[in-house]
Amino acid sequence: MSTGTAGTGEKRVATDEQQEPESALETARRQLEHAAAHLDVDPGVIERLKHPTTVHHVAVPLERDDGSVEVFTGYRAQHDDVRGPYKGGLRFHPDVSEEECVGLSMWMTWKCAVMDLPFGGGKGVVVVNPKELSTNEKERLTRRFAEELRKFVGPKKDIPAPDMGTDAQTMAWFMDAYSMQEGETIPGVVTGKPPVVGGSEGREEAPGRSVAIITREAAEYYDYDPHGLTVVVQGYGSVGANAARLLDDWGADVVAVSDSGGAVHDQTALDTHAISSFAEQPNAVTDYGADTDGANVLDEGRDIIELDVDVPIPAAVGNVITVDNATDIRADIVVEGANGPTTFAADETLAERGVHVIPDILANAGGVTVSYFEWLQDINRRTWTLEQIHSELESEMLSAWDAVRTEVEAKEITWRDAAYVVALDRIAEAKSVRGLWP
Ligand code: GLU
Repeated sequence: MSTGTAGTGEKRVATDEQQEPESALETARRQLEHAAAHLDVDPGVIERLKHPTTVHHVAVPLERDDGSVEVFTGYRAQHDDVRGPYKGGLRFHPDVSEEECVGLSMWMTWKCAVMDLPFGGGKGVVVVNPKELSTNEKERLTRRFAEELRKFVGPKKDIPAPDMGTDAQTMAWFMDAYSMQEGETIPGVVTGKPPVVGGSEGREEAPGRSVAIITREAAEYYDYDPHGLTVVVQGYGSVGANAARLLDDWGADVVAVSDSGGAVHDQTALDTHAISSFAEQPNAVTDYGADTDGANVLDEGRDIIELDVDVPIPAAVGNVITVDNATDIRADIVVEGANGPTTFAADETLAERGVHVIPDILANAGGVTVSYFEWLQDINRRTWTLEQIHSELESEMLSAWDAVRTEVEAKEITWRDAAYVVALDRIAEAKSVRGLWP
């Protein structure tokens, strides 16, 4: 067990109301209410923050390669822009709802505020399975979605970025469609683009890098030696693979990783650089397990977060730590790589058990932080080197870590509540000085 000096001192009592919330929106609202209790903030501000400013609901017709036409539903939730333009990813996923989109947009508001970026929060989704689209179909869908959202986005209004099911190429199409219609090249309308069209060096690996930095800081804080720290990473996509490889480079033992095809475990540590990420090669995780002495393929990828290690990192989808498995987590520290991997009720259980959950809005915020660097580079038409990106990201992550740690220690609250307190304080102050119009 850890020998930490501060953390989840607060005792929380389970109540009947703590049913497993189904939607990201419900989780986000409960988290907001819970954290607000630790702040002296106008209840009117909290009430306003429970609701998005706007949700744009669009139909996105797509001509399939066979000539037929299919209509997909898209949303762009604009949650809050008191601190700056709405900011947040575009997700292409078959099981995503309007409610989930709003919940995800709320998390972007807090994430930007925790990092002290001059942005609010937004999120866009298209309810579609991108794996069932050809590249040409994906391009047409993206361009049409960009056109439907054209009036509502822009470098000073709302700036999308990649998320699940989208990538740098998707952003290039979005930027091109927007720019063609506006009559000028406007790289700052989206971030996460390929560097050749105004994207930033280091943006792709940034969420994973921030997860690794925060894991390192959390391990040190709770007196673990980062050298030999045992880690599992659920989800070997961009976030998970980059986090795993960096931690491996810094001396940690990554003993298990998984993707949707399965999981691989090796008690003496995996060679993370030898395992392709899901985007590079789907099922590389299980292929590595089959081909490598000492590595075992496990049946159920999801279970690896229950392995007896120092830090499990859920970096796949949301709602994977629930009341059903929260008591099976054997680690003292969990670092959230995915957005919303822990349900509200599971959070309560983990807090009662003294497990320190370092929240998504801090841990994976490297993505939006380097998005901010990209936006600055686009506006100034001047590129930064990879070294500059790494050193600025390191310093932004450490500032945010320090701000959150200060609240953990001062108020003896969880890391999630502390991150919310930091964010809400900044947002509430901005709302208070701007006032409510009219
Ligand atoms: N989709 C990423 C996230 O959830 C990045 C958003 C951005 O860069 O705007 O944080």
